[in-house]
Amino acid sequence: MNEKHLIQTYFTATQTAPSVVTGIGDDAAVLMPGRRHELVVTTDTMLAGVHFLNTAPADDIGYKLMAASLSDVAAMGARPRWATLNITLSRADHAWLRAFSQGLFACAHKHQVTLVGGDTTRGDNLVLSLQLIAEVPAGRALLRSTARAGDQIFVSGEIGHAAHALLKLQRANNNYRQLEPVEMSALFRPPARVELGLAIRELAHAAIDISDGFLHELEIICQASGAGADISLEKLPVHPAITLQQAITGGEDYELLFTADPEYSAQILALSAQHDCRISLIGEINTRPSIDLYYCGKKLAMPAGTGYDHFQPANDNG
Ligand code: ADP
Ligand code: MG
Repeated sequence: MNEKHLIQTYFTATQTAPSVVTGIGDDAAVLMPGRRHELVVTTDTMLAGVHFLNTAPADDIGYKLMAASLSDVAAMGARPRWATLNITLSRADHAWLRAFSQGLFACAHKHQVTLVGGDTTRGDNLVLSLQLIAEVPAGRALLRSTARAGDQIFVSGEIGHAAHALLKLQRANNNYRQLEPVEMSALFRPPARVELGLAIRELAHAAIDISDGFLHELEIICQASGAGADISLEKLPVHPAITLQQAITGGEDYELLFTADPEYSAQILALSAQHDCRISLIGEINTRPSIDLYYCGKKLAMPAGTGYDHFQPANDNG
């Protein structure tokens, strides 16, 4: 099968959208953004052996490739629209490609994203790269750098499900078959809080998605905003089977962490029912140069490897 057939068979979107003037098949895609909207663009790459094991189910890999980028634009308060897909394959494994594209499109359709192009190349290692383009009314994107002292801090969902599944996978010698469906979902089908991101856009001051661990993302918001935070960890919902420290430092939750003026507290907490996910008020932004963690009023030490101080130069390791 040549490249053209492969693209036609697996990656030509069946759905069309008015915003896609010309999709897959020409030299480039032609897209129509909404009036007075800005584009929000992100890209994410997954390498076999690095971001997933070769034994991971292909449909799950496809789903996650799309979901990870969706989570990024959700944290910007943007509406996802279009995607391009770059894949490098050593050979055309049809069962794998079919499952991969099904997973990718399942996630894309759920969020009304149209695949509008890409590139397909041959290479020794499997490399998957997705670019997602979203849009937001001009000037309204939610940033990391705009948290203000006095803001309340909120988190969606429950933290630590992916970390728990990963620990279990490691104990099972990386055999995915030992995981329950709910644990596979925690690893490969993260929530991507797109609708919640849109709903908080006009209420929140700052937002980030939790991909590299709750505490790490909180540090980024504080550092970017030149602020500090007090956190009441007993208010943070975490997976019951792992330690609090594992939950707040483990990655891949893909929940939203955001800050807002206390005036909007009730409105924000009420979004929980509408969006079918927990929303928890867990702390407050302040002007001190530190993050202070409390559990029922008792101050906790920051876990090793963390310990943010915004008067220090950023530690450039990731
Ligand atoms: P060119 O050689 O002119 O770059 P290609 O043969 O690479 O053209 O691509 C033909 C069409 O197929 C283009 O519209 C391109 O965006 C699309 N395409 C190529 N690979 C993929 C892919 N993996 N997923 C989606 N679309 C793809
Ligand atoms: Mg090409």
